[in-house]
Amino acid sequence: MRKTRELQIGSTVINRGETREVELPLGKHYDCTEINMPVKVMRGKEDGPRLFVSAAIHGDEVNGVEIIKRLLKHRSLRHIKGTLICVPIVNVFGFNNLDRYLPDRRDLNRCFPGLAQGSLGARMAHLFVTEIVDKCTHGIDLHTGSRHRTNLPQIRACFKVKGTRQLAREFDVPVILDADIIDGTIRKVAYEKKIPFLVFEGGEPLRYNEISIRSALAGILSVMRALGMIKNSPKKNRKVKSFTAKGSAWIRAPHGGILIIKKKLGSIIKRNDILGVISDPLGNDNFEVKANKKGVIIGHTLLPLVNRGDAICNVATFERTQPLKKSMEQFDDRFDYEEK
Ligand SMILES: [Zn+2]
Repeated sequence: MRKTRELQIGSTVINRGETREVELPLGKHYDCTEINMPVKVMRGKEDGPRLFVSAAIHGDEVNGVEIIKRLLKHRSLRHIKGTLICVPIVNVFGFNNLDRYLPDRRDLNRCFPGLAQGSLGARMAHLFVTEIVDKCTHGIDLHTGSRHRTNLPQIRACFKVKGTRQLAREFDVPVILDADIIDGTIRKVAYEKKIPFLVFEGGEPLRYNEISIRSALAGILSVMRALGMIKNSPKKNRKVKSFTAKGSAWIRAPHGGILIIKKKLGSIIKRNDILGVISDPLGNDNFEVKANKKGVIIGHTLLPLVNRGDAICNVATFERTQPLKKSMEQFDDRFDYEEK
């Protein structure tokens, strides 16, 4: 296996059997206090895969920070093979401002692979690629829906990279999207470097979503088991069967007004099902928002105020939606009732 001998992140050398915290310097705030990207590295005594888990590339997506906190405390990690590199807050500037973006309004997840002498975002992306991605064999990046939107826990990945499909299935969520590669994303960097890489999406920004947190934690541990980094759990976890979507698209508001959503995340819908109702402030003119195809609701707006054309529900489409019903029920049973 490549990339197994030396491991140095920033100026810190991590030897076999060591756990180290590293601060990667990002410069200074306006008031000249230092700003760093926090990293925790757990290196097993035995070499093996090197997995990075990152969160808050969008600074307001706090779910992932909690997922990584719980992961780092998990008892399964007492003896690991290979190396786990956790970066709970990549966009430190956005995180401290409760903001998705960087202070200059750039989206850090459009700045990859970055440039050593470029903009703030380009420099941060370059640092992340050279210090983290280039030293790893696998990666998982944690996200939530964007502002005023929530997402069903789901995996997005590019199956063209060998080994990715199997890892996506191991994550134990019902819906997988074999999504298009977008320029400037960390996913494109992983694709070009042929590193199996998963994006987890679940919940909304600036809020904890317990089901998303628990399912992502279980998913990361399951991926680590599949990679041979941790031992199989004595507790037999029920597997959730995953289905890969053919595609996904937003259903948009036919009118402006005040929206009540009628379906939940994970709902299996048919063509012409009523997804929401839009009315005026006096309760008149109720316009139904209808599904234009069958599929599963994987995301929706949380804002009850809509303009014509605003995105309301993100619907993933499948060859057959019926087999997903059981998988969605298994998923709800497992993460609604599982202990923390
Ligand atoms: Zn995001």
